[in-house]
This record gives sequence, C-alpha cells and structure tokens, in this order.
Amino acid sequence: MLRRVFAENGRAHIRGYIFAGICLVTVALSTSYVAYIMKSFIDQAFAAGNAENVWLICLSIFVAFSLRGFASYGQAVALSRVSNNIIATYQRRVAAHLMKLSVEFFNSRRSAQVVAQINQNITGVREVLNLTITSTTRDILSLISLVGVMFYQDFVLAFIALVFAPPMLFGLQRLARELRHANSEGVKITGRVFGAFQETIQGISIVKAFTMERQLEKNLDEVIRAAESRSNQIVRLSERNGPMVETFAGAAVASVIGYAAYRTIYHNVPPGAFFSFITALLMAYDPARRLTKIQVQMQRAANNAKMLYALLDSEPNQPDAPSAPKLEVSGGKVEFREVSFGYGEQHVLNKVSFTAERGQTTALVGPSGAGKSTLATLLLRFFDTAEGGIFVDDQNIASVTKRSLREKIAYVSQQPYLFEGTIGENIRLGRPGATTGEIEEAARLAYAHDFILEQPQGYDTPLGENGITLSGGQRQRLSIARAILRNAPILLLDEATSSLDVESEAIVQKALEAAMAGRTVIVIAHRFSTIRNADKIVVMNNGRAVEEGTHQSLSQKDGGVYSRLNELHSFSA
Ligand code: ADP
Repeated sequence: MLRRVFAENGRAHIRGYIFAGICLVTVALSTSYVAYIMKSFIDQAFAAGNAENVWLICLSIFVAFSLRGFASYGQAVALSRVSNNIIATYQRRVAAHLMKLSVEFFNSRRSAQVVAQINQNITGVREVLNLTITSTTRDILSLISLVGVMFYQDFVLAFIALVFAPPMLFGLQRLARELRHANSEGVKITGRVFGAFQETIQGISIVKAFTMERQLEKNLDEVIRAAESRSNQIVRLSERNGPMVETFAGAAVASVIGYAAYRTIYHNVPPGAFFSFITALLMAYDPARRLTKIQVQMQRAANNAKMLYALLDSEPNQPDAPSAPKLEVSGGKVEFREVSFGYGEQHVLNKVSFTAERGQTTALVGPSGAGKSTLATLLLRFFDTAEGGIFVDDQNIASVTKRSLREKIAYVSQQPYLFEGTIGENIRLGRPGATTGEIEEAARLAYAHDFILEQPQGYDTPLGENGITLSGGQRQRLSIARAILRNAPILLLDEATSSLDVESEAIVQKALEAAMAGRTVIVIAHRFSTIRNADKIVVMNNGRAVEEGTHQSLSQKDGGVYSRLNELHSFSA
C-alpha cells in the first residue's frame, strides 16, 4: 500500500527527495560523529592531557551540532513541500473521481460521512509521507551509523546491546496488527461523528421546527461516546509500545554498563572506547524509540491510504461504450417505449410508453410514489432501464454518450440547488461559455434580473451554502435562469410541491413559461395551471402509464384516475 503511495508520487518529486536525502545523510553523519569523537576526546583529555586537541574536538562537536540543525531544517521544509503537493494531488484525484461516479453511488451513501472519511484518509496519507520520510529515513540513517560506531568501538558490547532487539520487534509486530483493525473502525466512526454534525447543521431548521434538539443531541452523544471509546482503545494499543520498549532498552543499557564495568575492573580495559560506545548507545535510543512508534503510526497511515484507494479504485459504474456516438437532436421528440425499471428488487415502472412531441409540453401527473420522478432520472440516465428504451429523435439514449445526452437537457429540480459562488456564476453553470450579456438575458426571462440588481453586489453577490439569503421563489427563479441559459432543446421540469406565497408563485410560473417556450417540455406537474395548459397529460399510477390525453378529454372520462385526482384537487401530491 505504502509502496503504491510512493510509486505514484515519487517520480514527480525526485529533486525534492534528492535534496532531502542529502540533508538526511548530513544529519545522520553529524549525529554519529559526536559519538565517534568521544573516544578521542576521553583519550586526549583524560589519558594524554593534550589541551590543543581537546579544543579542536570541542569546536568540531559544536560545528557538527549546528550542521545537524541546518540540515534538519532543510529536509523538513523540502519534504513538507513535497507532501503538501501530494495532498493537493490526491484531493484533485478524488474530486475528479467523484464526478465520474454514478448517482447510485451517492444515493447509497451519506454525503457528510463520505466527505469526513475522504478528509481523514487524505490527512492519513500525508502522515505516511511526512512520517516515513522526515522521521523514518532520518532515524534509520542515524541509527545505522550509530550502530556502526558501536560495532567499531566495541564489538562485544554492541552484540550484547543488540540481542534485545529481535524479541522487541516481534512484540511490536503483534501490536501493529491489533491496531490495524481498531484503526479502520476508528476512521469510520469519526466519519459518523462529522457526518452527524454536518447533517444537524444542514437540517437545523427542521431540528428546531420539530423541537428535536434533545433527541438529536442524544443521538450525537451516542456516536461521540462510541468514537471516544474507540479513540481510547487506539491510544491504549498504540502507547503500549512505550513500556515494552523502555523495558527492553533498560535491560540492554544495564547489561552493557555492567559488562563494561566488569571488564574495566577485572581486566583494566581503558574507558575511551566505552565512553564512545555508551554515547552512541544513548544517542541511538531516541531514534530507535521513535522508529518503534513509527511502525504503529505507519500502520494507521497505510490503513488510511488503503481506504482512500478503495474509493479511487472503485469503478465508475455505467461507463459509456468506447465507440458510443453523440446524441444528435433535430427536433427533440422524446419517446418512452415499454420502459420497465426497479431499484434493486423493488419494481417501480412497468412497461411505460408515451411520447413527448417536439416543441410541446407533456405533463406527468399521478399520486405520489407512482414513478414520475423515476422517469425523469431515467431520461437523464442516472440509471439505465431494465427493459424497453428511451428514444430522443429515434436514437436510443442507452447507446449515446451520457454527456451529449445531458447537454441536450435542461433540468430544473424541485429543490433549486445553488452552489458556492456568486449569483452570476450560479447562472453561468447552465452553460460555462456564456457571456455576461447572455446571463443577464436569461435572468431577465426568468424574472430574476430585478431582484438580482437589488442585492448588494448585483450579479457578483456571493451565495452562502444553499443560498441562504434568498427566498424560495428567488432561488427557483435562479435555477430557472440557469436552465434558460443552457438553451437545450429538452426541458425537464420537476415542479416544486412546496407552495410559495401567491405572488412569488405567479412570478415563478411566468419564469417557467419563458423557459418552456419552443422546447420539448416534460414536466412532473403539480400546479393546476401547468396541467391545464399542457399539450398532453400522461397519468401515472403504480408504475404504469394508465391514461393519456388533454385536460379536456381526461376530465370528461368518468371513473378515470385523472378525473378523480381532478375532483380532489390533489395534483400537488
Ligand atoms: P413519484 O415521483 O411519482 O412520487 P418516484 O419515482 O419518486 O414516484 O418513486 C416511485 C417508487 O420508487 C417509490 O415507491 C419510491 O419509494 C421508489 N424510489 C424512488 N427513488 C428511489 C431510490 N433512489 N431507491 C429506491 N427506491 C426508490
């Protein structure tokens, strides 16, 4: 896993790595030099009493330390730059990949949790890189050169010290394995905490309106509690290496000192080499301890990387066929032929057939749950039909590219969704190449121009999340302006069921009429005026198209679904 992180990012940053590598070698060498020179220092100062040499050695130690400081700084900056760049690269990759995934992917997940997990996992990958390179490499190099000094000064002592390494490494290995599992659970549960927060904030008006504060607080508390105890478990596991490492280190240091003292006392071995050795041993202790921790941290980071790659590697479902042609629209006739469809096991549509003629308005009506919105998602190819097909100007939409299909459709959803950015930018999303003049023209047609000019910065007024400062009707008119700007031959309209005040309702209706002019319109209709003016009405019931006609012809049909809905005035289901 880690190898993949490096393989995919190594080549692009080779210069940064080389520079950092030179710094790291400098750090390691200057560290072990201090230990190495101890022997000469002890021998010169205490045995030979040569003052001049002692001063030289002191100076060299001073130089070694400051060299080490500058080299540490150099490698830290160089590597952080690389790792920041790698994070940005992953963020871009995830963003690009999310765009490719189908609506189905997002339907089956909670958006807030997806976001929280992506965030945690990318941070985890950053940690992999920071840890491995900044600390691991430096510590390993320092450790190797210090162990080299130890062996050089005293082979037997070095051997005694190292006897304790294998059992310690074995214990750490087992610890890391336990931790891996705890960690992926940890990421998931933290994702749930962030997700729950985000959902609460997004739905705060519902929370307050239903006075669910207490209940939600309780739910949140449960998730938080679970995350807390999971974090505690992770800490217990990851810190368990502390006592283990200290115990082994204590045993090693005690044995070495004991054996060295024994040799000095009984065999008169001079102490210079021993001092150098013990300096190296004590200096090796810090990097060694950090390295034992790093294995555990790496385990966690590797796990994050794995979860991130699971997302990046997920196949974008329903890709276009490689040779799929583009949709060519001449008039914009839309034909549903015997369309059947279900979400998983549940059958939702059963052999639905109807035609929306070019330039005309076709209204879909019927009780809630009849399958009207599902027809719209199928036309947009968020899902593919199970049987039958949808034809636009006699081309099956299943065989053309999804992009070319969607470019020919302007979709106005029930919930007008506004994105982060200015009002003008939000309209421009309808057609990225549009000029300012065209944007204003679309806004005018959608009866939005005047209220936009009343905003503090006109078209350049920024919108908060979901455009919180605009009224429902204003937001709908913005989304209609976006659809008008798109200038697509087919308009797919999901009328809002939530009622606006009479005045806004009338303006939105006018805006919609402007958007509908000259296009093939398929509208999931709730407003009586829309239905009455439609050229054709298709009545849906239980996943079937049960009646078809105009308001005139259908309301005269006794006992029909439409006439019943009409009598009940229940179109706004
Ligand atoms: P309408 O728009 O007429 O109210 P829909 O097309 O929204 O009807 O829904 C038709 C049926 O499909 C309903 O029973 C609904 O529960 C189900 N349904 C809609 N969307 C989904 C989905 N994403 N996953 C599973 N079932 C769905």
